[in-house]
Amino acid sequence: MNYAQNYKSLFGENLKRETYKLENHSFEFKSRIGKSVCTRYGLVYLKNEFTEWSVRMGCNSNLHPSYEQKRKLTGFYK
Ligand SMILES: [Zn+2]
Repeated sequence: MNYAQNYKSLFGENLKRETYKLENHSFEFKSRIGKSVCTRYGLVYLKNEFTEWSVRMGCNSNLHPSYEQKRKLTGFYK
């Protein structure tokens, strides 16, 4: 089994070119909207499962193998 096949069996989807690496958000409180916003990616800190997951996974959460699945589960999938 090569790396790409191994990845697919582990995560259930094809290997993407970019690889996920944890990079912590840097939240800044914006009083104008009364919420914290990540200064790198613009993630708004909301109280829902998907956001909490994204916060844990850091700024590159959109590259995480579970990203699409998480988005679907929490109703954020377009
Ligand atoms: Zn961020």
